[in-house]
Amino acid sequence: EPISTDQSLTALLDEFSTSTVGPALPLLMQRTLARQITLEELIGSGRYGSVHRGKWREDHVAVKIFSANDERSWLREIDIYQTVCLRHENILGYIAADNKDASTYTQLWLVTEYHENGSAYDYLMNHTITVPILIKMMLSIASGLCHLHMPIDSTNGKVALAHRDLKTKNILVKKDLSCCIADLGLAVKEVRTRPKSRKDPTAANVSYQEQVNIDIQPNSRVGTYRYMAPEVLDDTLNQRSFESFKAADIYALGLVYWELLRRCQTSPNVNDADPYQLPYEDIYPSSPTIEQMCEAVCTKKIRPAISERWLTNPILCHAVRLCEELWIADPACRLGSLNIKKQLKNQMELVENSSSYVNVESQQQLTPNDGP
Ligand code: ADP
Ligand code: MG
Ligand code: MG
Repeated sequence: EPISTDQSLTALLDEFSTSTVGPALPLLMQRTLARQITLEELIGSGRYGSVHRGKWREDHVAVKIFSANDERSWLREIDIYQTVCLRHENILGYIAADNKDASTYTQLWLVTEYHENGSAYDYLMNHTITVPILIKMMLSIASGLCHLHMPIDSTNGKVALAHRDLKTKNILVKKDLSCCIADLGLAVKEVRTRPKSRKDPTAANVSYQEQVNIDIQPNSRVGTYRYMAPEVLDDTLNQRSFESFKAADIYALGLVYWELLRRCQTSPNVNDADPYQLPYEDIYPSSPTIEQMCEAVCTKKIRPAISERWLTNPILCHAVRLCEELWIADPACRLGSLNIKKQLKNQMELVENSSSYVNVESQQQLTPNDGP
């Protein structure tokens, strides 16, 4: 399918995201576009292959390449990205999928929008952030997660999704420093099957008794050990309820927020941020086993350390309290993503109205690695 030569990537995606076709370009157009991409440098390599920066016409794109024996992971991730109504400013933008048959091997491509700041993990390793940026990042991640978690109940509406591998390496930092959630390969969908009695005039009331199920037979203990919720680590997660999967994401979100907090300067003029650390890095510097994580998080009930420094600033202090409500042991007591998003919107207003953060947009952030 031809793509007119004067069309930019943004215009193309805008045109099709508002069409009735679905959240993506028509399949043939996806393939055409993918085959016009020139691969540039390698920007990441993970369990499922490698990620390259690529170029399509004037625009950069990201290309995640799966090997042929990872076809299932590729199929799963593109299926999730093509979920109806998934497009959102805080979810990585899907562009195209393609399976290229070379003579001796098959390459499976997943093309997405490219973010030059890389993952939140990479960004925090190299930069500190200010309080307004902290809240902006926190709110944008909560908004992305809220969109994933929320079913939208209209005809053909979006189903609810749970991510199951939320961590700073799977969150990308956009140019304006807001974030988007990426790496949806382990996500699960909530499947609702309506009761049969559709002609029954009282059927409206019946919808509350919808059967809720999960779209794949989930292996409950997937994800990254370091970010696994206590109920995932000790295998007590209730797999019959979709809420359980969302609650496990919320625990991981608490750890992500803690990583952001460490890198946040208390005041815009003083670079007092803590060095970057992964969650539980002080106890397990590298690759903990699931048993080690279980001992720390479930048995000893250890959580990331809170610094006194953060409690001196009211916005950071609120963020600390929020973390504690997200990584709480009982999944039923964790806040929902909508609640988190609302709280952070309030914090954003406080920041915007507070004289101590005026001209936040023009404030330079200090980077410890810069300078002579
Ligand atoms: P995996 O499933 O192998 O973990 P990811 O989708 O998480 O693969 O990508 C691996 C890494 O590649 C990310 O942590 C990030 O550093 C980089 N990356 C992935 N997608 C993009 C993108 N769209 N823009 C910029 N960097 C990206
Ligand atoms: Mg990843
Ligand atoms: Mg992955």
